[in-house]
Amino acid sequence: MFDGAIFVGLFIALIAGILVYGDAIKRGESQDSAIGWGIFVALILIIGLPLYFIMVVQKPKKEEHITRICPQCGRNLTAFPVDIKNCPYCGKTFFTS
Ligand SMILES: [Zn+2]
Repeated sequence: MFDGAIFVGLFIALIAGILVYGDAIKRGESQDSAIGWGIFVALILIIGLPLYFIMVVQKPKKEEHITRICPQCGRNLTAFPVDIKNCPYCGKTFFTS
């Protein structure tokens, strides 16, 4: 999973570098300049994307259980125990599955 994220980051960086290179050529940049830009963008992404995947994407989601919302009044029930039988706000009875 860890390695997979880095691989995805590298792959996206490579694609982006190629796209930037092609675009620079189309806009009339010299080949050297276009390669330079492609490498520049790829390098930024190679450093930035895996970092993003590691720091942000793989971080345990804090909002994981904030989805506990009363089906009747829509209030957030995260702060309450998981096994409460009624909504503390509107009194709605929960049917636990
Ligand atoms: Zn409620």
